[in-house]
Amino acid sequence: MTASPAPPVPKAATACSEAEMVEIFAKLREPAFRVTQLREFLYRKGVAGYDGVTNLSKTLRKQLAERMPLYELDAAGRQEGDDAAKWLWKARDGALIESVQIRVPGRLTSCLSSQVGCAMGCVFCATGLGGFERNLAAHEIVEQYLQMWGHSGEHSSHVVFMGMGEPLHNYDEVMQAIRTLNAPPPKGCGIGARRITISTVGIVPGILKLAGEQLQLELAVSLHAPDEETRARLIPASRRYPIREVMPAVREFCRKARRMVTFEYVLLAGINDSVAQARELAGLLQDLPCKANLIPFNPVAETPYERPSREAQDAFKAVLDAAQIPTTIRFSKGKSVAAACGQLRRERAPSA
Ligand code: SF4
Repeated sequence: MTASPAPPVPKAATACSEAEMVEIFAKLREPAFRVTQLREFLYRKGVAGYDGVTNLSKTLRKQLAERMPLYELDAAGRQEGDDAAKWLWKARDGALIESVQIRVPGRLTSCLSSQVGCAMGCVFCATGLGGFERNLAAHEIVEQYLQMWGHSGEHSSHVVFMGMGEPLHNYDEVMQAIRTLNAPPPKGCGIGARRITISTVGIVPGILKLAGEQLQLELAVSLHAPDEETRARLIPASRRYPIREVMPAVREFCRKARRMVTFEYVLLAGINDSVAQARELAGLLQDLPCKANLIPFNPVAETPYERPSREAQDAFKAVLDAAQIPTTIRFSKGKSVAAACGQLRRERAPSA
């Protein structure tokens, strides 16, 4: 006798369309407005599970949990530091995803992952070292935001796509997630587009497509080197999108979206931190509505790279300051929680 197949796992509320939710509620003989009640609560209050959805009866919540779980991601780990809390999630297929809540005075930011692993292969990044597994679905991205809020009780006003993965390499799902994060309740979380930052290593077609979106998103471009050779060494995937193509695409984004762009630059001792490289960088950024974020490297165990001295950091910044490019030295938050992207996941998943 052959075993009967396991029943299909029901879709989570975050993955269901409004019409699918109405159908599930109808089967429970509940009116369609209960869907709005559920979504309103989900996106406005931040809950860890159905127990927190207190505007629906206990009986209904129990029935819903069986037919349409609230979330798909399971909390698999958390590290708490002074300035950041890092979360590890397990997806239904066993994939491990990280996200971080980053604190600066007066602001909490959710740093979300867009992919499981990453194909860009940045040589200083724990995620890049692990390779690419798959794209995240839009609801898996939104869930990171909702679940961090629900579990911690702390609401993030800002979102950055600086976790695992290259967001413009998963364009459609990331944009769908952004629409949900941006839409006002009950359709979404109501986060202003100007509070959502996409960080890319410079996927040219993605930057150009983004320029045409009717959204006032923030764009951050990781350059990490002012010359093609050093950049290709640090970001192997950037060979497909060299600086000579990235910069015109960024210009086009600034022009069409009427937005300023942030250039991210991880400072690695002896690799990309010389005064000559700072001058070259200043030349690239001249005449662009932009600012530069210098990020002294946060050491990752499996890499040979080191953080430049404070003097070298200051000398690099001084060149950009002299060129009148607004520049900050940003220390990556969450050193205390292994916040280099992919680090917690690799600690928990030695096979990754
Ligand atoms: S730094 Fe970002 S783009 Fe580069 S490998 Fe890591 S996750 Fe991917």
